[in-house]
Amino acid sequence: MAKTVTIDRERSAERIERDIETLAGPDYTESADCIRRYAYTPVYENTLRYFTGELERIGFEVWRDPVGTLVASNVPKGAPAFGIGSHCDSNRNGGKYDGTLGVVTALEVCRLAQESGEHVPLRLISFLEEEGSGFGQMLLGSRIMLQRVTEEELKGTFLSPEGVSFWDAAKAAGCPVEDWRASIAELDGLTGWVEVHIEQGRVLQDTGNRLGIVHAIAGYVHGDFRFTGRADHAGATPMGFRVDAAIPAAETILEVERLANEIGDTTVGTTGEVESFPSLINVVPGGMRVSLDTRSVTGGHLQLRDRIVPYARERAEARGVGFEWVERQGLDVTPMDDGIVAALTAEAEATGEPFMVMPSGAAHDTMCVADRVPTAMLFVPCRDGLSHTPLEDADTRDAALAAEVLLGAIRALGA
Ligand SMILES: [Zn+2]
Repeated sequence: MAKTVTIDRERSAERIERDIETLAGPDYTESADCIRRYAYTPVYENTLRYFTGELERIGFEVWRDPVGTLVASNVPKGAPAFGIGSHCDSNRNGGKYDGTLGVVTALEVCRLAQESGEHVPLRLISFLEEEGSGFGQMLLGSRIMLQRVTEEELKGTFLSPEGVSFWDAAKAAGCPVEDWRASIAELDGLTGWVEVHIEQGRVLQDTGNRLGIVHAIAGYVHGDFRFTGRADHAGATPMGFRVDAAIPAAETILEVERLANEIGDTTVGTTGEVESFPSLINVVPGGMRVSLDTRSVTGGHLQLRDRIVPYARERAEARGVGFEWVERQGLDVTPMDDGIVAALTAEAEATGEPFMVMPSGAAHDTMCVADRVPTAMLFVPCRDGLSHTPLEDADTRDAALAAEVLLGAIRALGA
């Protein structure tokens, strides 16, 4: 098929590189060793001002929603436009690319559209607090926009490490937070939405693909297995006299791996937090907490949860250990829009560059946007799959390719 858009990728890669390196400078991170920026800090404000300056330079109008999510458009507020963007906050020990590359690539799409002289109605959004570094809440800006939070949570439950509520912090930053429900109007008129993001896995790198077109974002369940045994002296208590909470915990960890493999179909299961009580070398563990993170794009994560919980209970009971499953949070699988995925696929094919259609294992703001707007995502490879570390690395030439494919798809969709 004929390409809808051809760009000077080298020039775009250079501009993306310049943006990324600028935003890695001392004015844009609280730490000299990593990227650390989150809502309502001076470095975050500087970052939003940088994007504002670049967007105004190419004739976009820029504003903020009631909690500080940045929005920009080249058509009047609410008029039909195609949405692009990501987030520019970081993990507390983050790198240059997670989120920021998506906003920077969206900015490049805006520049390319403006330079093309064609009328391409666009709306760029940079969501507040995706990583949860400020208030421990992931996807907070997009959840606020999609009304997936309550006012009580904003006022009371969502706290900074210093104990300041999100509500008070937003107010102190000058945001009209009491109008938070109006944030959803920022999606009015959107004909579609695509977020560019680093993959955060190693599939693209290891398969030699330069782009990933996301067809679904995995759903997940987060919870804790809590085992309650009896803490006894490790020397004075013979083996037959123990109620050791660590044993069924260990069996459960192994079973999570076995089940994820058996269920297959993108299902993953991880027991990343293991806590022992009292955690002493000479005391039989009286309690154990093992976390579960399970995800899939097929519903396999729900199957895993439904099978592992009775298994863990059965193993605990077999040893006289108390058991409780405490579910923390879950999100459903988010399918992407077939039409947008097809348009991205056609444009990617036309470039002749290697790409693949793939699921996203990680959660993204796009999961919230998808409530209201047809969406998809584009992944760019990152070195060794690393993210949430200053070692994050990605090739801005791949991001330039993403910009070309994205602009072409938007044009082809007639948005
Ligand atoms: Zn991210």
